[in-house]
Amino acid sequence: MKWTQTLIPTLREAPADAEIVSHKLLLRAGLIRKLAGGVYTFLPLGLRALRKVEQIIREEMDRAGAIEVLMPALQPPEIWEASGRAETASNVLFKVKDSSGRQWFLSPTAEEVITTLAANEINSYRQLPKNFYQISLKFRDEIRPRFGLMRAKEFIMKDAYSFDATDEGAMASYQKMYDAYTRIFARCGLKAFPVEADTGVIGGNYSHEFMVPAETGENEVVFCEACGYAANLEKATSGIPKTAAREVGPALEKFATPGVVTIEALSKEPYKVPANRQIKTLVFIADSKPIIILIRGDDQLNETKLLAKTGAVAARPATPEEILPLLGAKPGSLGAVVNVPGDVKVFADERLQGANDMTTGANEDGFHFKHVSIERDLKVTAWFDLRTVTAGEPCVKCAKPLNIRRAIEVGHVFKLGTKYSEALNATFLDVDGLRKPSVMGCYGIGVTRTLQAIIEQGNDKDGVIWPLSVAPYQVCITPLTVAPDSQAMQLAEKFYAELTARGVDVILDDRDERPGVKFKDSELVGFPIRIGLGEKSLAKGEVEIKPRNGAMQFVKIEAAVEAVLGLAA
Ligand SMILES: [Zn+2]
Repeated sequence: MKWTQTLIPTLREAPADAEIVSHKLLLRAGLIRKLAGGVYTFLPLGLRALRKVEQIIREEMDRAGAIEVLMPALQPPEIWEASGRAETASNVLFKVKDSSGRQWFLSPTAEEVITTLAANEINSYRQLPKNFYQISLKFRDEIRPRFGLMRAKEFIMKDAYSFDATDEGAMASYQKMYDAYTRIFARCGLKAFPVEADTGVIGGNYSHEFMVPAETGENEVVFCEACGYAANLEKATSGIPKTAAREVGPALEKFATPGVVTIEALSKEPYKVPANRQIKTLVFIADSKPIIILIRGDDQLNETKLLAKTGAVAARPATPEEILPLLGAKPGSLGAVVNVPGDVKVFADERLQGANDMTTGANEDGFHFKHVSIERDLKVTAWFDLRTVTAGEPCVKCAKPLNIRRAIEVGHVFKLGTKYSEALNATFLDVDGLRKPSVMGCYGIGVTRTLQAIIEQGNDKDGVIWPLSVAPYQVCITPLTVAPDSQAMQLAEKFYAELTARGVDVILDDRDERPGVKFKDSELVGFPIRIGLGEKSLAKGEVEIKPRNGAMQFVKIEAAVEAVLGLAA
């Protein structure tokens, strides 16, 4: 490709709304352009890099035995109602109406479509296992799109869905995808690592996310350097000890705490109850019913765990107006010792199990109880791990201190079980003559997000540093004069032809620009190898070969093509 023939609109400055380095570089290097918030056009170079990422994904999915299909973006709401997600995923669904007033959903994912297909096409165990995948445009009604392609309203996703006859088969399919993902991200030059993840609104019972460490990532990952334990903060557990038991203390005692409504205030004079001896009482509305949650005063509730453990579809903190008639007090004086209606469930964090001599609200404004013994004085419906892990806590596996790091989620593998196959009747006739639901898995890769993660991980002050595997062009030939009869331009054309014939992706910067401008643009776009053809070097019979991430080499003209092929291998 000749530079003047394509469109590479590089920018010296990034637009003000680009907050993170990869978003700035996508714009500055002329890879994408914004049409509206969260909606982008891929320019020629951005599209070339994107297609290379897609091709790596396609090759590895095919290698893992998955088969490519293409499903519609327009999906009828009925199948979403059947799976129950018309409601649970409602906040992210793009809904459109056709001219007859019929409603459609724009696909954010395709479990319902593929399961409908399987219900019709797969009838016997002999047809299993099957793993279908597609690479296509997806839509998400993102209220606050941000960070360029990271959180967009429209994006490209690779989604795959496996169908197996047995649970063991489903685990084998899961493992194949897990291994394929490991290869895909490695081939994209990304340092991505798998972490245990929550299964969230998609449902299912086993899941990993593939994370790329980055300061700007929207996820927090808990990990252990010592043993390799890694989990999303929403899911992570630690080996933190339970609350130390004290000798069985005196009986429960109510005491006045006028104006005290926070854990902190109760920890100060004159009360001096440390946060780790307080029980924090929270009221949530879970699937429209109030529930009480007890966690230790120095811990934070993890709402993802709350949903996962209680099985609730949705939960939100109750308002003071909802709490007062329920418990008889305002937030700040709440507890579960007295005045808890019999039909309100009480869920407590495991760290409080067996704790005694604790302090908690008395469900009477301005009063607390002390000497509270959990087992003796209050009724807990169920104990769960409900707290959020913090850095430095002992690892759940090896007891070494845990770290927390920010990361970008680029892929996700789920073992779904039979949730969708039961809901949408995707059954098959098994070898024993019985009709059974297929055991499913689903597997996503954010393709456009992966592209941006590659840039977020590979850049310096001058621009993008592409891995060879996904660079829009691997080699940029830069003659410093472009007069057609000059030695520089004639050699440039010769190298261009030879390298292209040897299978290298080459761009020839044939612009009549100052050398400084050309070098700067080539560094900004981040081509992995630049061949500089300047008068001084040519006079010595040499060309300049500059790896984007390495030192300049001077190579004899005759040896130049082989030298570049060595670097591009
Ligand atoms: Zn560990």
